[in-house]
Amino acid sequence: MANSAHGGFDGGAVASDGTVEKDINLNITKYLYSLLGLNDFNVIMTRTTDTGTEDDSNLSIQNRKISDIHNRLKLINSYDNSIFVSIHLNKFTTSTANGAQVFYSKNHPNSKFLGDKIQKLIVSLIQNNNNRVIKQGTKSTYLLHNAKIPAVIVECGFISNKQELERLKKPEYQKQMAYSIYCGILNYYN
Ligand SMILES: [Zn+2]
Repeated sequence: MANSAHGGFDGGAVASDGTVEKDINLNITKYLYSLLGLNDFNVIMTRTTDTGTEDDSNLSIQNRKISDIHNRLKLINSYDNSIFVSIHLNKFTTSTANGAQVFYSKNHPNSKFLGDKIQKLIVSLIQNNNNRVIKQGTKSTYLLHNAKIPAVIVECGFISNKQELERLKKPEYQKQMAYSIYCGILNYYN
């Protein structure tokens, strides 16, 4: 299952130039979807357009967020025989912070293994200087905290870092990121 984080009312992180996280997340997830499809994986997308997954858009923003996250969790836990890969971008107050980092769920023993494969492939294929290590998600990462299947969040990079933001905005780099995640998933299954 490929989760393009945020969408619609929820833009996610916003860069200084106005770039919104949700749009880059969606692009990377779509590329990932295509690659996995070529390999006969049956991929479920939590969203394919610029929308949230909330039940009712007339709710307050806070209640839309709650509805959205509950619906995504419901979807995750309705597929027993699957893995959950969530695409996000990071933001930090220090503008030098850069590089992808994978977070994994504590609930399934394979989550860490999956996270490790994806992190390794991103580093070896497109981020050779990235020294970040994978981390277990905390309670604040709701979907990881509650997912029953192997689950990871891929923070693909920092939109608060100017150079990394420029890369992340480019379709070519988005494809490379998707390809790296895809190779990590293939390694996981092999
Ligand atoms: Zn995010």
